[in-house]
Amino acid sequence: MMKQRLDILIKGAAELLTLNSGLKGPRSGDQIGELGLIHQGAVGIKGDRIVCVGTTDQLLRETEVDERTRVIDASGKVVTPGLVDPHTHLCFAGTREDEFEERIKGATYQEIEARGGGIRATVQRVRQATKEELIQLALPRLERMLNYGTTTAEVKSGYGLNLNDELKILEAIKELNHSQPIELIPTFLGAHQVPEEYRERRGDYIELLTKEVIPQVAERRLAEFCDVFCEEAAFNREESEKILLTGKRFGLRPKIHADELSPYGGAELAAEVGAISADHLVYTSPQGMKRMKETGVSAVLLPGTSYFLNSPRYAPAREMIQEEVPIALATDLNPGSCMTESMPLIINLACLKLKLTAAEAIVAATINAAWAIGRGENIGSLEKGKLADVIIWGFPHYRILPYHFGVNLVEMVIKAGRVVVERRGRS
Ligand SMILES: [Zn+2]
Repeated sequence: MMKQRLDILIKGAAELLTLNSGLKGPRSGDQIGELGLIHQGAVGIKGDRIVCVGTTDQLLRETEVDERTRVIDASGKVVTPGLVDPHTHLCFAGTREDEFEERIKGATYQEIEARGGGIRATVQRVRQATKEELIQLALPRLERMLNYGTTTAEVKSGYGLNLNDELKILEAIKELNHSQPIELIPTFLGAHQVPEEYRERRGDYIELLTKEVIPQVAERRLAEFCDVFCEEAAFNREESEKILLTGKRFGLRPKIHADELSPYGGAELAAEVGAISADHLVYTSPQGMKRMKETGVSAVLLPGTSYFLNSPRYAPAREMIQEEVPIALATDLNPGSCMTESMPLIINLACLKLKLTAAEAIVAATINAAWAIGRGENIGSLEKGKLADVIIWGFPHYRILPYHFGVNLVEMVIKAGRVVVERRGRS
């Protein structure tokens, strides 16, 4: 047998978390904590793909390393797949640190909204911005995400709330996808909020979305998913269903902001319309969880949002695991309710606030997050044939990831076979 020549060999990893369990689909129930851990692990990369994974001895025997191969010594380090952030609103203009302080003084998110803050404030800033300005504002955020280990991210529109501004955001996301290393998966979220000018005639806004905006977004192939903020204060169940089913007819798979502020039946709706994921789920009912499990809807949990809004209430993650609903983690990066790019911070919060183990949180931030955005076949684990998205961490045991918090312990990030982050002068 001819030995395979490698472009990159990562060898000697104290702990290589492959996240490979032989399953075709997200992990749930008893399997949620399976890391596929290999001691003294190694990964071989050729072009943009992983070509072999195993122990260092095995790979040194079975592959060919020549003077063009970059050999990376990962001894004393943990190696994992790149992190996947399956829920962000990273394409925005303007920040809302004033609201952060108002909340500290006791105002609620809803009160701030009623005073003209909230999503409305960001919509105003985004409408004033050009596409080029949106791109320039998003680039440093993406750079921070990459530095903290995110190699794939979903991004939603939803701060335009009219035809031209929604298209502008989605076009900015499309250009951003080609101008930096993180792969971006676009979601249309025209139903984020009813815009000011349609407050008295919300039916007309639903018409605009279903008759004009969704068809154009689909025709220009600017989004893969269609999302709705299904909540008393945003879009009711009937409106949400209409928008999601229209999106589905145009080839956009449904996603839902569900049961974030109240038990509103968003999880049940996600099951009914065949959504790929329901997100937030802070108030989801046991019945909603059962329906999600039956229909294969992933739960995307956003503990950073409860934390940032200073809410005592978090999604019932342990009950979801019990009910065998697959759970994923995301930042929810946005200027109002969760201003962070850091998935490692979210992993820390998932352990402390959602009561996940380190292993469960790592599964939820990699392979399960990949399935929640339809990328499970291609990313989220270190397996032969998958995209070579790899992180080398500056610690020897994976349990240190949530434990040593608030600092960046990523030493190297490889995206699609290219070293894109390299810190502390590693060779
Ligand atoms: Zn969101």
